[in-house]
Amino acid sequence: MGAPAGTKGRNGLDNRQVERLREQLQQLKLAALAAVRSSAGELSGEDADLFRDSGLTGDGALAEAEFERDVAGAGQVRTALIEIVAAERRLANGEYGLCVDCGDIIGFARLEAQPAASRCVRCQEKEEKRGGPTHFPG
Ligand SMILES: [Zn+2]
Repeated sequence: MGAPAGTKGRNGLDNRQVERLREQLQQLKLAALAAVRSSAGELSGEDADLFRDSGLTGDGALAEAEFERDVAGAGQVRTALIEIVAAERRLANGEYGLCVDCGDIIGFARLEAQPAASRCVRCQEKEEKRGGPTHFPG
């Protein structure tokens, strides 16, 4: 069913690659959720809003309330989760694999190493120089 294997979308990925990355994202999400669960914290309404904005509510796999509770209080893991959820949303929208800044193809090799990557290498470097999500000393 669907397009034959080897047919690439505008994101430069064929169906098999997309499926593989989708599975990796799922694994990452489960791992991050487990990490969040192991670090208890207080529920923050801000976190809940953040995740609603990230499109988590479209995912029927998790009850939203449970997720909001689990997410509370997890710093880095929370950030990672936000990226994963955003990547899943782009998958659903057909925007996955395209740089959110310049619209270029991110490329399978980079996505395989970092399934939640939202930028091509060039834009990611720019973002990091600007002091973006990656911690920058000084
Ligand atoms: Zn870019």
